[in-house]
Amino acid sequence: MKNIILTGDRPTGRLHLGHYVGSLKRRVELQNSGRFDEINILIADDQALTDNADNPGKIRENIINVVLDYLSVGIDPTKSTICVQSTLPALHALTFYYMNLVTTARLSRNPTVKSEIQMRGFADEGLPVGFFAYPVSQAADITAFHANVVPVGEDQLPMLEQTREIVEKFNRIYGETLTMPTAMIPENEMQRRLPGVDGKAKMSKSLGNCIYLSDSAAVVKKQINGKMFTDPLHLQISDPGHTEGNVVFTYLDAFCTDEHFAEFLPDYANLEEMKAHYRRGGLGDGTCKKFLFNVLEETLAPIREERARWAKDIDTVYDILAAGTVKAAETTNETLAQVRKAMRIDYF
Ligand code: ATP
Ligand code: MG
Repeated sequence: MKNIILTGDRPTGRLHLGHYVGSLKRRVELQNSGRFDEINILIADDQALTDNADNPGKIRENIINVVLDYLSVGIDPTKSTICVQSTLPALHALTFYYMNLVTTARLSRNPTVKSEIQMRGFADEGLPVGFFAYPVSQAADITAFHANVVPVGEDQLPMLEQTREIVEKFNRIYGETLTMPTAMIPENEMQRRLPGVDGKAKMSKSLGNCIYLSDSAAVVKKQINGKMFTDPLHLQISDPGHTEGNVVFTYLDAFCTDEHFAEFLPDYANLEEMKAHYRRGGLGDGTCKKFLFNVLEETLAPIREERARWAKDIDTVYDILAAGTVKAAETTNETLAQVRKAMRIDYF
């Protein structure tokens, strides 16, 4: 059996640091591990339309933003296939067939969809059928590539469970055809849920608490200095401070290494020593924030440079997307043919 990954993103905005730690970084590692026969990355523009039907322009412009983000973090189009969902009609057909294998009661129980319905106000305004059924379209995406490994955030686990049920049911009714996928979930808390710069909620574009991969150094600095709360009781440098619940330290926990200390803050050997000093008193927030800026820039500066390089060569970016889509069309059309054959609706 081949080892095939399917993963992707909704093109509803530029990608941020939460996406980087939660999924992009690991995608690049998986891509370069040599452990996989195929890596498919789907830009889910149709899925994005299910709750943005009135704003297709936003989706259109963010397709290219997302591709630029991918290329700038190290997704390599010679190793990973980047494709656009709406250009793959096999996915629509599969969704249509799978909808017959799922009940509305089952979809209504999906906890992620439930909370998204609340968040988007669909509970009051009325729920678009397309949005309600998007877990079915995700099942189409995953199975169309015969993916056996699906790297997802925890919020996506119910989708994968739904897909597994569809695969089980399809294979039971029509004969062994679809590949049973398994989820690969992030290992640590930060990867699961990087908080926003406000420290309150998960970093999320709709909450406006993001550091985007494409933000300039000046914007990153402004976010750190202006939006990151430290310890409200740490008024004077000499005051003892708290590192728990202190956003600057939460980020340092996630991003800094001992090498960063050697390079930028040689007074300390590691984060424990720095934290101990902060707790004792005598370490100012300004120093901590400057260090965090330097630490984040180690990740962000090369990404920003790569992005600028690709942005100058936008024709090549479109070519990459077109080539990925041609390849994905072959794969997904073949799966659709297998599905129609299994269902014995391959009439001609
Ligand atoms: P929205 O505000 O529209 O929900 P978002 O910025 O939260 O957008 P999503 O499209 O919901 O981004 O995220 C897609 C995937 O990216 C998630 O399933 C998760 O794997 C990962 N992800 C997003 N935000 C974070 C975060 N703050 N920490 C870790 N992973 C994240
Ligand atoms: Mg979200």
